Amino acid sequence: MLARSTTLFFLGLTTLAAAGPTTEAEASALLGEAECQPYGYQPVTNAILAKQFPPIWVPVPSLQNDTDALAKFRSIEANIPKIAPKGENGVPSNTTVYDRAADPDCWWTQAQCVQPKAAGVKPDIFNVPEPRTLGYGFDDGPYCGHNAFYNYLSQKNQKATMFFVGSNVLNNPLQAQRAVADGHEICVHSWSHAFMTAFNNEQAYGELYFTMKAIKLVTGYTPKCWRPPRGDVDDRIRFIAQSLGLDNVMWKYDSFDWEKGLNGVTEDTVRSNYEKLISDASTGVLNTAGAIILAHELSNYTMQVAVDYYPKLAAAFDHIVPIAVAFNKTQPYAETDLTMPDFKQYIAQRPASSSNSSSSNNSNGKGDGKNDSSNSTNGKTSVSGASAAIVVRPLSTGGILLATLAVAIAML
Ligand SMILES: [Zn+2]
Repeated sequence: MLARSTTLFFLGLTTLAAAGPTTEAEASALLGEAECQPYGYQPVTNAILAKQFPPIWVPVPSLQNDTDALAKFRSIEANIPKIAPKGENGVPSNTTVYDRAADPDCWWTQAQCVQPKAAGVKPDIFNVPEPRTLGYGFDDGPYCGHNAFYNYLSQKNQKATMFFVGSNVLNNPLQAQRAVADGHEICVHSWSHAFMTAFNNEQAYGELYFTMKAIKLVTGYTPKCWRPPRGDVDDRIRFIAQSLGLDNVMWKYDSFDWEKGLNGVTEDTVRSNYEKLISDASTGVLNTAGAIILAHELSNYTMQVAVDYYPKLAAAFDHIVPIAVAFNKTQPYAETDLTMPDFKQYIAQRPASSSNSSSSNNSNGKGDGKNDSSNSTNGKTSVSGASAAIVVRPLSTGGILLATLAVAIAML
């Protein structure tokens, strides 16, 4: 249990009793059998009633009357690269004319550009520096039914980078809290998952700002990284994100798991995309620098395929790490009381051989089925590579109580 989340509850920011329900057992007590059943969470309810957020799952119309957001936006507005929006309200325009060959805006959607052309804009992250290493992460969460998937990652002692949609964070706040409690890194993935280059400056700022605000409200932490939905970014959007302290994390390998059943993408397509990454790792293609894969906690299917391929990825790569770890970013949030290990520390805590192990160990010995992936010393919370085991159960959207029972039985 993170000291931080406990503190949150002592501060009275929620009406929920006892410690934060950041474990599956605690969440089940609150949510009942249906993991995806909507629930109320007082801090979110209060914030929505106070109109502190724009409507959920609607493209941010403006910064509204958020004076803090407006002041920050006005302070950077004049320096935003003069690039016209490529649509309206997050919807691309089919009349946009763009010189793809010259690619003046470093528009990834058209040219897969990752080296900005506007002055002072930081380059994208699209791979990881360590060879034979995989930067591991999942977009579009927090998904309401992700507990079994997160259990699996915990059992494998595996941390990842989670790119959260602000609207999902307000809908599924306990699931967002669990990501932090489990030691994952949280990044921003916009408010409404629309096309970022199709927003005006203020809207684009709001899509990121309100997602950061939602994550801060629910978890207590402010992310320092983001990923544009569909990779739709240009130098104007990069600058706006950078002004909010967000590093842009792209990818080089796309599982296309999100597209299964659409546009001719089949389960075979997704498998072959994973196999290509594994093949490249196994044949020396990634011996100079590692890779980042795009995958999703979007549905049971995308999580299941991630689970199915995890052992193969673990066998093919020397290391699988969150993005922050790959770049030795030991302070993944604006708040400095939570640290992550650097790359050397992470792999030292988690030898490569353990990746392939199907066995698990319960390091806390308490048999309570809780994650013990963090510890608190001198008021600082650090996320370590070690964690206690959780019994894995098949992925499903329900059955939390059964899973809790399974944990209890396994501990007997
Ligand atoms: Zn997405």
